[in-house]
Amino acid sequence: MVHGKKPSIVYWLGENLYLNITNRCPNNCYFCLRNFRNGVGGFNLKLEKEPSVAEIIAELEKVMNLKNWRDVVFCGFGEPLERLDSVLEVSKWIKRHYGKIFTLRVDTNGLAYLLNKGRSVVEELKMAGVDKVSVSLNAHTKEIYNQVCRPIFENAFESVLEFIEKARELLKVEVTAVRIPEVDIQAVEEIAKKLGVKFRVRDYIQPFW
Ligand code: SF4
Repeated sequence: MVHGKKPSIVYWLGENLYLNITNRCPNNCYFCLRNFRNGVGGFNLKLEKEPSVAEIIAELEKVMNLKNWRDVVFCGFGEPLERLDSVLEVSKWIKRHYGKIFTLRVDTNGLAYLLNKGRSVVEELKMAGVDKVSVSLNAHTKEIYNQVCRPIFENAFESVLEFIEKARELLKVEVTAVRIPEVDIQAVEEIAKKLGVKFRVRDYIQPFW
């Protein structure tokens, strides 16, 4: 039960530590967890305000030594790469202090090139120490993408594909899709295969009303 709890910047599920640094996102996926939940695993992920880099690091310092974390992951109720510079700064801090211990991953919708025009997003992530990205492709065509993810950007689907192509040159890449009726999971897997990256299906957590 998360009702009434203070919002969490860091939270954990099993062996992984997660960073919830923004609630902003250029998509409005109908299956997005934040549409019908306040958080996950007993943590409240609805931020009242975005934390500064110093606040993120202060929260991280409290929990980094609690466990032998397997992955540290930027993934919350929003798109982490809405805050590219903060992701880069926090990543550098993590890698400087704990770099050899675990994988540093960003879970993203892959729209970073539309959100950060003119930036070399993948190269910058790599330089900051990010090891891996998990990209929500979520559709096998542009039409289906627009229908289920409802992006604010015109060429969102094409941009996600471009992000995957660039990322696979420098980072470990996994593509994911949520199992929903509109999406041909096999066709999404085919796209991932053609791009030469791993694929994982995520289960849709249905609202309970
Ligand atoms: S891209 Fe992710 S955070 Fe954004 S609306 Fe879709 S599921 Fe939610």
